[in-house]
Amino acid sequence: MVVVGSTGIDDIATPFETRKELLGGSVSYACAAASFFTKVGMVGVVGDDFSQAYRQTYESFGIDLSGLQQESGKTFRWSGVYHEDMINRDTLSTELNVFESFSPDLPETYRSAPFLLLGNIQPELQLSVLDQCRDLEFVVADTMDLWINIARESLQDVISRVHMLTLNDSEARLLTGTHNLKKAALEIMEMGPRHVVIKKGEHGAMLVSRDKDLHLIPAYPVDEIVDPTGAGDAFAGAFLGALAKSGEVKASTIKPALVYGSIVASFSVEAFSLDRLVTLTLEQIDDRYATLERMCRVN
Ligand code: AMP
Repeated sequence: MVVVGSTGIDDIATPFETRKELLGGSVSYACAAASFFTKVGMVGVVGDDFSQAYRQTYESFGIDLSGLQQESGKTFRWSGVYHEDMINRDTLSTELNVFESFSPDLPETYRSAPFLLLGNIQPELQLSVLDQCRDLEFVVADTMDLWINIARESLQDVISRVHMLTLNDSEARLLTGTHNLKKAALEIMEMGPRHVVIKKGEHGAMLVSRDKDLHLIPAYPVDEIVDPTGAGDAFAGAFLGALAKSGEVKASTIKPALVYGSIVASFSVEAFSLDRLVTLTLEQIDDRYATLERMCRVN
């Protein structure tokens, strides 16, 4: 599986703690999450301020870094402040830096990967990666409000070429202008994808598929959310990794894979940056999966 997205350094403030210079970016969370299930290759770019320690963190997950380019200049930087609810946040700054002139050139081994995650980054870069892959079985794209607002046309291009789009509730409303999320998902499907996953933070996610099938994906209720950053990326990465591991793309493998996405995201928010994912084991993931199944049992 291959993932493209931002490789970033984040400054994050929650109502309880402020942390600077954290390893972040959509591709970091997504690759780390996917690595529990499958072999994953990263596509991204970093500047010369990207420390060896960050690189070692990537290596500790066994992520293939042959598609991670290093350029002179500064790494992508993002800074945000969370509100009291630990869900909504204000972006204080976004500096694209080396991403502004980044032109992905995928290693030959990546080009035949069957699973591709177009993580949150400029839609033009997502398209460039999509164009270089030739044996794709399942492609997922994620995005955010910024790209809906400033790059809608190229984002529409991306959406028209993927099997699944994941986005959160407010982004689905922004993209479609429709408040009802079920209707919004159906409208997004008319743009191309067979599946739309609308994420609703601690309230879980909703999968709507072309056959009008609707499934609810529960969120695991964690004891304490320390930092929600990257939850969506971890969700998408673990989902596609688990789907790749299942060996077959069909309705009965997509839903459990989405539950794995939800489980890994629930671990990711228990600490800043990739800290909780660094110590996470597949056994802990499976335990929590079983607990969530028990919690959801109706009879
Ligand atoms: P999420 O909480 O899922 O939105 O992911 C947060 C991560 O996305 C942070 O680690 C940021 O570095 C990164 N990020 C923030 N804004 C952007 C952006 N405009 N494009 C790409 N990545 C971003």
